[in-house]
Amino acid sequence: MTDTDVAVVGGGPAGLSAALFAAKNGLRTTVFDTDETWMHKAHLFNYLGIESEDGSAFMDDSRAQVDEFGVERRQNVAVTSVAENGGGFTVSTEDGEHEAQYVVLATGANRDLAAELGCGFTDEDVVDVDVTMETTVEDAYATGAMVRAEEWQAIISAGDGAAAALNVLTKEKGEHFHDFDTPADAE
Ligand SMILES: Cc1cc2nc3c(=O)[nH]c(=O)nc-3n(C[C@H](O)[C@H](O)[C@H](O)COP(=O)(O)OP(=O)(O)OC[C@H]3O[C@@H](n4cnc5c(N)ncnc54)[C@H](O)[C@@H]3O)c2cc1C
Repeated sequence: MTDTDVAVVGGGPAGLSAALFAAKNGLRTTVFDTDETWMHKAHLFNYLGIESEDGSAFMDDSRAQVDEFGVERRQNVAVTSVAENGGGFTVSTEDGEHEAQYVVLATGANRDLAAELGCGFTDEDVVDVDVTMETTVEDAYATGAMVRAEEWQAIISAGDGAAAALNVLTKEKGEHFHDFDTPADAE
């Protein structure tokens, strides 16, 4: 039995979006984050659906949203390594080791953990993923700034995180998974 189904490393837009989709759909989800997201330097005028919002306020809203869905958010806990353990992953932190079935790397432009885990890199020296965001290491995903040399935007990172979580959910449920709600769900 693992400690969590999905371990997310990094709690910026990519990591929290992955966590939102995973936890909302029943997976035990833990996010480790050191709170150095670039969002603290940003003001959003280009995130569809948000006219204007300070980046730190966006993070406050995002954290509250994932908390509502039961994400275990380990704030200000640094992950020091991620390694395969023969059936999942061991995520090592300053305060101990955690076992997870899946890992979503969302550490911004820092690719060190992906390299140590043995993920393949492209000719541009970014982490090699396809549209599912799965890396060359099975069940390990990479999202956000680490998979692009440039063109870094919050909404793209959030989309990457969603894609990673949906692929995990597809594997877990054994058929293609969509997280569709309707107006009746809000009543
Ligand atoms: C000055 C500036 C202005 C910007 N303005 C805009 C804008 O107007 N619109 C826009 O769309 N984008 C803007 N951006 C870009 C936007 O901030 C990024 O695209 C976005 O934050 C990337 O999201 P991410 O989740 O990939 O990475 P990040 O937001 O960088 O999040 C990565 C998180 O991982 C954590 N982390 C890293 N390593 C570890 C570890 N080992 N253990 C635990 N946690 C770890 C970090 O502390 C951080 O919280 C701006 C960026 C800057 C610098």
